[in-house]
Amino acid sequence: APSNEDDSAARDWLAAHDHRFGHFIGGQFTDPADGFDTFEPATGKVLAQVSRGTSADVGIAIAAARKAQKGWAALSGHERALKLYALARIIQRNARLIAVVEALDNGKPIRETRDIDIPLAARHFYHHAGWAQLQDSQFPNHDPLGVIGQVIPWNFPFLMLSWKIAPALALGNTVVLKPAESTPLTALLFAELAQAAGLPDGVLNIVTGEGETGAFLAGHEGIDKVAFTGSTDVGRKIRAATAGSGKSLTLELGGKSPFIVFEDADLDAAVEGVVDAIWFNQGQVCCAGSRILVQEGIAADFYARLNTRMQGLRVGTSLDKTIDMGAVIDADQRARISGMVDRAVAQGAQLLQADVALPEGGTYYPPTVLCNVPSTAEAASEEIFGPVAVSMTFRTPDEAVLLANHSRYGLSASIWSENINQALDLAASVEAGIVWVNCTNVMDAGVGFGGVKESGFGREGGREGCYDYLRPRAFAKAALRKTV
Ligand code: NAD
Repeated sequence: APSNEDDSAARDWLAAHDHRFGHFIGGQFTDPADGFDTFEPATGKVLAQVSRGTSADVGIAIAAARKAQKGWAALSGHERALKLYALARIIQRNARLIAVVEALDNGKPIRETRDIDIPLAARHFYHHAGWAQLQDSQFPNHDPLGVIGQVIPWNFPFLMLSWKIAPALALGNTVVLKPAESTPLTALLFAELAQAAGLPDGVLNIVTGEGETGAFLAGHEGIDKVAFTGSTDVGRKIRAATAGSGKSLTLELGGKSPFIVFEDADLDAAVEGVVDAIWFNQGQVCCAGSRILVQEGIAADFYARLNTRMQGLRVGTSLDKTIDMGAVIDADQRARISGMVDRAVAQGAQLLQADVALPEGGTYYPPTVLCNVPSTAEAASEEIFGPVAVSMTFRTPDEAVLLANHSRYGLSASIWSENINQALDLAASVEAGIVWVNCTNVMDAGVGFGGVKESGFGREGGREGCYDYLRPRAFAKAALRKTV
C-alpha cells in the first residue's frame, strides 16, 4: 500500500496564492497576468497558473536587479556570507515544504527531493557563503560581472536554481532567473522564503514563462552574463543570440554519457550503479549513464543480473515514499521516449523492459534497456532523457575508449573495474568534464561540474565555478614620483 508524504502544507501554500502567481520582482510578487498552467505529472491534474513573462516584464526585472547590484556588491564578503547562510538555513527549515512542492510539480519521487535535491541545494548555499567570505583574499583584482540572466530546465528545478543563484550572489552579482515552464513553483517559493530571510529587494528576481521569455532575457542588452542549463539545441540559439554582445556566457547542456563495465568489475555494484545512472529521476539527468558499454565476456551475465534488478523497481506517484521511480515530465516527453525505443527495436535492438504496474492518470514510462543497439540508430547517439539506457559491448580497453568518445557530447563518464590502473588510464582518455570510478552521479558543491564538446562550457561549483561569475582586472599603479 502506498505510504504517502503529507502534502497539506504545500496545498495550503498554493491555496494562499489562490493557485495563481505573478513574477517575483524587486522583492514582491507582481499581480498574476496572462499565463499558463503547471501540472502534476503524477496525476495530470493542474497545480497552479503562472504568468507568461513579456519583454516588458523582463526589462522591469533587469532594472530591479541593476538597481540592487551596486549596494549588494558593496557589502563586505562577510556581510554577503551571512545572507547566504540565512538562505541555506531557510531552505533547511522549509525542506519538507520545498520537497513536496518539487515532487508535485516535477513528478519525481519524494524520497529523492527530500534526501537529495533539497539537501544538496542547501549545501550549495553553505558552500558559496564560504566563497563570499573569502572573496577578497581568494579573488583579488576580480570584480562581479553585474546582472546575471539565468535560464534553467525542469529536471532538477530547485537544485539547478541553487547552482545558479548561490555563486552569482556570493560574488556580488544580482540575478534574474527564468525557471522552466513545467516546473516554476519552487523558484517562486524560494523567492518568497528568501525575502523573509532578509535578502535585499531586487537581488533575486524570478520571471516565469516559456522559451520566448527565456529568449527575451538572454537577448536583453541590460544583462552582463547569461548562465544557461538545458538542451544543446537551445544552448546553440543562446550562443548565437549573445555572440558579439560582450555578455559572458556559460552553457550546461545535454549528454549521452558512457557507463563502462569491465569484466573484472564488481558486477552487483555495477548493476546498482546502473539503477542510479539511468533510473534516478526517471533518467531525466544531464549526466545520466545512458550508454552502457559492457565487456563482451560478461555481457550475458551482466544483462541477466540487470534485468532481475530492473524487474524489482517500483514505479509510482511522486508522494509515495516507497517508490524507486515517478512519472516523466509530460506526455510529449513520454511520446518522444517511446518513439525512440520503438524505432531502435525496429532497427534490431533487443528490448529489456520492466514488467511493472504503472499508475493510472500520469505520464509514466517503465525502466528500459535497449541491448545491442545498432550504432546507426538515433537512440545510440541522441539523448533520450528518460528511463532508457542503450547498451553495446566492447572487447578491449582501447575499443571502450573509442566507443565512449564516439559522441558529440562530453559531460560525464562512469568506469567500473577492480583494476585501478586500468580505470585511471581510461579516466584520462575519455572526453568528459566529470569522470566517476566505481560510482556514478556523485555531486559536490566544492567540485566544478560541467562538460566538454557539445555538452557546453563553464563550471558550476567550487573555485572554478566562482571564476565564471567574476571579471578579472589587470591592474597597475605607477610609483609615486618625487617632486623636485
Ligand atoms: P530546454 O533547452 O528545452 O529548456 C531549458 C530552458 O530554456 C527552459 O527554461 C526553457 O523555457 C528555456 N528556453 C527554451 N527556448 C529558449 C530560447 N530560445 N531562449 C532562451 N531560453 C529558452 O531543456 P529542457 O527540456 O527543459 O531540459 C532538458 C535538457 O537540459 C537536457 O538536454 C539536459 O541534458 C539538459 N540539462 C543539462 C544539465 C547540465 O548541467 N549540463 C543539467 C540539467 C539538464
